[in-house]
Amino acid sequence: MLIRSHPRSLKSNAIRLAKVLKNWDPTAVERLECVRRLPFPSRARRLFQETVAFLEESAHWDRMSIIRWQEERLGSLLAMAAKKVPYYRRLFADSGIRADEVTLKTMRNIPFLTREIVEQQFDRLVAEGTPNRQKEYFTTGGSTGVPLRFYVDFSRTNTLREAFFHRMWGWVGYKPWERGAILRGIPIDSDNPDAYFDYDVLSNKLLLSSYHIRPDWLHRLYTILVEFAPRSLQAYPSAATPLAQHIVDEKLPPIPSLRLILCGSENIYQWQREIIEEAFHCRVFSWYGHSENVLLAGECEKGHAYHAFSEHGVLELIRPDGSVIEGPGEVGEIVGTGFINDIMPFIRYRTGDQASYAKGDCACGRPYPRLERIDGRLQELIVTSDGRYISMTAINMHTDIFNQVRQFQFEQSEKGRLIMHIVRKPSFSDADKQKILQVLHTKMGKAMDITIDFVEHIKPTQRGKHRFLLQHLPVKFSD
Ligand SMILES: [Zn+2]
Repeated sequence: MLIRSHPRSLKSNAIRLAKVLKNWDPTAVERLECVRRLPFPSRARRLFQETVAFLEESAHWDRMSIIRWQEERLGSLLAMAAKKVPYYRRLFADSGIRADEVTLKTMRNIPFLTREIVEQQFDRLVAEGTPNRQKEYFTTGGSTGVPLRFYVDFSRTNTLREAFFHRMWGWVGYKPWERGAILRGIPIDSDNPDAYFDYDVLSNKLLLSSYHIRPDWLHRLYTILVEFAPRSLQAYPSAATPLAQHIVDEKLPPIPSLRLILCGSENIYQWQREIIEEAFHCRVFSWYGHSENVLLAGECEKGHAYHAFSEHGVLELIRPDGSVIEGPGEVGEIVGTGFINDIMPFIRYRTGDQASYAKGDCACGRPYPRLERIDGRLQELIVTSDGRYISMTAINMHTDIFNQVRQFQFEQSEKGRLIMHIVRKPSFSDADKQKILQVLHTKMGKAMDITIDFVEHIKPTQRGKHRFLLQHLPVKFSD
């Protein structure tokens, strides 16, 4: 995060925390003094401030103005790609596309970019003449799907991204310098498995490790949150859910200081949202984006649909045959053309995520296209014996039937067969097992062979997320 300093309150927080938190490092206060004397990186600050000012203004434009702006930005992106990026130079020549004539409508003639193409054409997708010091290397992917590696513009992309988050979270009342907690994949100290939290003086944030979401740690996480008294909580939904479940199960009071919960980086299922809001007594605001930086979409203070920010990229929804969906209601794959990373541009990139356009307009009046709940990521589909896909969204885990389940994870290696790993609560009985099987069979059909397997612990991913489905089968939306 780009830090807005607020030295006095930071310092008093730091001193207060020193008394409260056991593994507090007192030199942090001195570090704060040092940091305050460092020159602020003025180029990044200027870019951030200019972008924030632009985004504050553009949010008030009407739809036609934002479309005109997008068309212009798309034109300059394509012209740059045709000139500097070998892959696009060749692609445009082969498909008879004249970059300077492309509009938002005719861009549909540009072939899609897929993860496979990025992997195969990696070097040819990087803009020629980009100095090495400007390239920041990223890699994503994991147990499923095709891994992806790419570069972002070290000096621009992250700053622009910060500006978008600044605006999006500003709408819902978040202040960057306020006391907040972050429960995401932060490996606090890999040498010390007991170190599960830290305090970041500069951002005034309590960092909590999502690698420690185990039954015996949940109460410690709760206690430390109550003591620290954050106003906001940024979390992976899969990390906030077990904590919320613990609060509900133990009938604990909500954390009094907490006003908003910001969730992202994973799908959030409706049942997760319900249990998080029930436990913490405040609203969850969710956002959608990826490290590939093509699109960013977020909920505003007035509604639950995701505004897809037109200044960040061009959003399209496509059918399995590649045709473009225009109106609300129909579910399609999200395709994005990103505007914030010109050193490795992703044009018409197939994300593998699915959504539909929301109906009507948002009460906030902002001019962006809106997406309904984004779900059915390809890694989150279960395959039946006859090759049909069932989305994990269909399974509502926030019901009495799962009351005795502490944690769960589905695993599939064979069509029509599914293993459900369960971490039981002590009161789990055979009747619970039968009820769960019955509900799953109702949702997925009798033909699905489901086995329940009891485990002590479910391992998080390398990034500290919790996957609800380990899908070992290849799942494709279309060929
Ligand atoms: Zn809105």
